[in-house]
Amino acid sequence: MIQFQQVNKEYSREVFALRDISLSITQGELVFLAGPSGAGKSTLLKMIAGVERPTSGTVTVNGQDIGTLKTGSLPYLRRKLGLILQGQGLLLDRNVLANVMLPLIVTGASGSEAEMRARTALEKVNLSDKAEALPLSLSGGEQQRVAIARAIVNRPQIILADEPTAFLDKDNANKVLSALKAFQSAGVTCIISSHDEQLFDHATRVIYLNKGCISDSWTSSLAA
Ligand code: ADP
Ligand code: ADP
Repeated sequence: MIQFQQVNKEYSREVFALRDISLSITQGELVFLAGPSGAGKSTLLKMIAGVERPTSGTVTVNGQDIGTLKTGSLPYLRRKLGLILQGQGLLLDRNVLANVMLPLIVTGASGSEAEMRARTALEKVNLSDKAEALPLSLSGGEQQRVAIARAIVNRPQIILADEPTAFLDKDNANKVLSALKAFQSAGVTCIISSHDEQLFDHATRVIYLNKGCISDSWTSSLAA
């Protein structure tokens, strides 16, 4: 479903973010990207979403070569992805429900349809009781689960999450991971960057990046 073939990414002549990455991820996997800060984890996630393009090599998602995709086709690709990237916070002046409805409204769903689906998404991350709350009245873990609900409201086949448990205590981190795992059990491929080694037990695979290279990787017995 996702393939990298000899992918290099240079942001500039001095900054190599990824070097010669080849990997293949199949449907329903729960993959963690591990490694120190600056290793290239976010860049790898952004390449799957077409936010960044390879300098050389090819990235294929569902058979589509992201590098040659026309810019106009990117929004269409992203609708099939649930993106939880850093720095894409919730809109603080609207309640949780309105935040989760937004991706549907943007793509032309009616208000009643969007509300129904947003409430279903909130149920799946266990936050039905917070639909009317404003984001800042929620805990960090709850806010992150709202971001997950917003990311999956379009029923994507792939969820990409950049450090979704950063800054969370263990209890909240586990709740966030449980929400992601529930989608994985339903067949959604999840790719998550994280420093949090405690979570790796749940992975089908962990890929360690260091200075833009894959330094190690393992596949768990959880992988089908
Ligand atoms: P990680 O997510 O593992 O912390 P990143 O993918 O964010 O790593 O970064 C990999 C390298 O690319 C780092 O050296 C970082 O400084 C650099 N980098 C990331 N984004 C950009 C950018 N937009 N412009 C220039 N350099 C970048
Ligand atoms: P529904 O009950 O809405 O008809 P489906 O039969 O489509 O649900 O899927 C069964 C379950 O799979 C849903 O309740 C949901 O938890 C989960 N699911 C599968 N794929 C997705 C997705 N892309 N986004 C959100 N939930 C999903």
